Amino acid sequence: MSVNYAAGLSPYANKGVCGIPEVFDGPEELRSKVAKLAQLVRDAQYLVVHTGAGISTSAGIPDFRGPKGVWTMEEQGEEPRFDITFEEARPSLTHLALLQLQRAGRLQYLVSQNVDGLHVRSGFPRDRLSELHGNMFVEDCRKCGKQYVREKVIGVMGLKPTGQYCEVTRSRGLRACRGKLMSTILDWEDPLPDRDLNRAEDASRRADVAITLGTSLQIKPSSDLPLITKRKGGKLVLINLQPTKYDKHADLVIHGYVDEVMGQLIKCLGMDIPEWEGPTLCETSPGDPFDPPLSKLKEEVKTEEEEEKKKGSGVVKKEEKKKGSGVVKKKKKGRAIKVAAAVKREQEEPPSETLPKREPAAVTDSSSEPMRTQSAHNEAESVNGAEPDPSCLSERADQPSQPKKARTKPAAT
Ligand SMILES: [Zn+2]
Repeated sequence: MSVNYAAGLSPYANKGVCGIPEVFDGPEELRSKVAKLAQLVRDAQYLVVHTGAGISTSAGIPDFRGPKGVWTMEEQGEEPRFDITFEEARPSLTHLALLQLQRAGRLQYLVSQNVDGLHVRSGFPRDRLSELHGNMFVEDCRKCGKQYVREKVIGVMGLKPTGQYCEVTRSRGLRACRGKLMSTILDWEDPLPDRDLNRAEDASRRADVAITLGTSLQIKPSSDLPLITKRKGGKLVLINLQPTKYDKHADLVIHGYVDEVMGQLIKCLGMDIPEWEGPTLCETSPGDPFDPPLSKLKEEVKTEEEEEKKKGSGVVKKEEKKKGSGVVKKKKKGRAIKVAAAVKREQEEPPSETLPKREPAAVTDSSSEPMRTQSAHNEAESVNGAEPDPSCLSERADQPSQPKKARTKPAAT
């Protein structure tokens, strides 16, 4: 199927601002910003990355609002170019860099607006991924909620029936569910999938660093999620070629190709980009990105804070002195401790014994082979021992510089 999925959507008037000129940081400025980014990633206790269409353009899939984007071209009365199919598209360097960060225990959760399925096909664990606008390769059962990741695109959009039926066997083992399978692709004004949105919000609340990659942040509610992290006292990094209306809220704004930025970041962290060996499905990863539950986390933090108040704990006071006092900072400190503990527990668990049973990809169309399933990785230990690139250590991100104003004036805001 052609990657012109946009042609399958209903007509819609307000598609946001298209064709804003792109801005490029110079090579030196880019290097210095990536060094700051690397420090933020190293210091993060809970990192969430938000991705948009800009991370798949190098895979041959056009974006929507870039200079050659689908909606930009439509506005200009031109046809966008589609040279490949979704099945042919290979994960970009950025997809693989994110996979590496996850495997290394540096990236806790990934939120994507992309429907191209490249995160899933790259092998990124689905239990650490929210696909807010659906996935061209996934259909789900209206009756029992079971999702099927296919080798080929579903070809139906707008949450409509795909013509397939659920094959989940009920607990008594006699009858299959037979629920109608539905496309997961949202049309304009379709509600976002509850489970994916709730998990994305939960992760955004836990996060102390949020990074957006290749999104102009114009579609709500996806665009609001990174700001949840910022509001909770976390850091916000925006990596995009076009300026966005949230640039002023960010701690760091990088105007560069996402593949260039992520390539430099992975090198700075002393890691390598993993090889892609064809479409790979990974359902679960070691540990639980939502353990402990957020409600429990808040209670624990509250208790901890009260105790600290009573005892007048030195650690918090020191922290306040260093970073400026305030309830928010204190809260964040308490919260960070708890999240750190959770992450540590996760890394200590022996992967082979604690791994939940992985379900193989379900494929019903006889024309295609099941997607290869892959065991989840946990390379935290080996990567922690890796030598970072010394050229990246000169810069610290303790005080990220204010993002420079775009040198190119946006066409509209
Ligand atoms: Zn079912």
